[in-house]
Amino acid sequence: MFMKQYNVGIIGATGMVGQRFALLIENHPWFKVTALAASPRSAGKTYKEAVGGKWAMPSGIPENMKDIIVLDATADINKIAASVDFVFCAVDMKKDEIRALEEMYAKAECPVISNNSAHRNTPDVPMVVPEINPEHIEVIKAQRERLGTKRGFIAVKSNCSLQSYVPAIHPLMDEFACTKVLVCTYQAISGAGKTFDTMPEIADNIIPYIGGEEEKSEQEPLKIWGSVIDGKIVNAKSPSFTAQCFRVPVSDGHTAAVFASFEKKPSKEQIIEAWRNFTGVPQELNLPSAPKQFLYYFEEENRPQAKLDRNLENGMAVSIGRLREDSQYDYKFVCLSHNTLRGAAGGGVLMAELLAVKGYFD
Ligand code: NAP
Repeated sequence: MFMKQYNVGIIGATGMVGQRFALLIENHPWFKVTALAASPRSAGKTYKEAVGGKWAMPSGIPENMKDIIVLDATADINKIAASVDFVFCAVDMKKDEIRALEEMYAKAECPVISNNSAHRNTPDVPMVVPEINPEHIEVIKAQRERLGTKRGFIAVKSNCSLQSYVPAIHPLMDEFACTKVLVCTYQAISGAGKTFDTMPEIADNIIPYIGGEEEKSEQEPLKIWGSVIDGKIVNAKSPSFTAQCFRVPVSDGHTAAVFASFEKKPSKEQIIEAWRNFTGVPQELNLPSAPKQFLYYFEEENRPQAKLDRNLENGMAVSIGRLREDSQYDYKFVCLSHNTLRGAAGGGVLMAELLAVKGYFD
């Protein structure tokens, strides 16, 4: 049993994803929060004061964090880096500012587990879904050489939109080779850091545009399925993706309607068997946040539903349903994942557990 303990910082602790991190780490067996940071607006306040009316989680602010004084994510880098073993980072800033901020932490010898998109295209920064591409963490060696660090590095989570359909397609890749995918996503408002109170325009409405989301939904899967070659991740060439992403009046949980074709068309039974039998490294290593069953297939015609199924396995499982043949693609199906758990903070914690077991924080 892995028994080490690590001190952890949350950068962007007052935000939607930061709050999720706080709750997930509250009782974590290996990780303990010792630093919380956000913008200069929050710095100097206790966490309880800084998060104030913005607390949007289903349970209260962790008792052991309420009185921690929030630090300034930029001005206090050295102080934070000296007091933690690594940080989780989820901030709402300009992309180039986030890129610079995360590099400053890495160069201060503080590993960064990031939910931000700023470094997702950096070729020596791994973008890991631990069940799919855990081997990509090997590229950290080359990244440390580039940054001139011994411990410091950046590892990123992919976008939350793809956290349901990429895991669903993955177990079919080796044997049947998925060639093209059309996907429409129906994304929750917490994905924009919002609640029904702070996004009143979503009531009785659907917004057919989320800035940058369609590009990420089409391109990021190819990095996840890429290969580490000469210290860089070289993207996979297929499948080809086309995506439309909508914001819908749902608090949590991104749903995706997926159409997929294959080089070798599987039978419906083969697909369902591949989903039900799929396990990855997190399950083999029995990581604390790993779902026992990563992919669930529902036989009921009206599932998965965001409200009923997003919290499956503590929000870390992917729910799939309505698999059937299509007249233009080989198959169509629906899938769902919790965007701030598996799609953000939970996925970040699972990645950190993998990195901890593999010795990357030592
Ligand atoms: P959010 O609720 O708006 O929170 C933003 C956080 O960033 C707050 O803690 C805020 O601190 C902090 N911040 C803003 N300006 C800052 C500055 N100049 N310096 C330091 N900190 C600053 O946003 P979110 O939804 O949590 O998203 C955060 C990141 O995670 C984004 O990059 C987003 O794309 C990504 N992400 C979100 C989701 C999701 O489902 N929500 C999923 C995947 C990835 P103050 O409170 O002090 O302003």
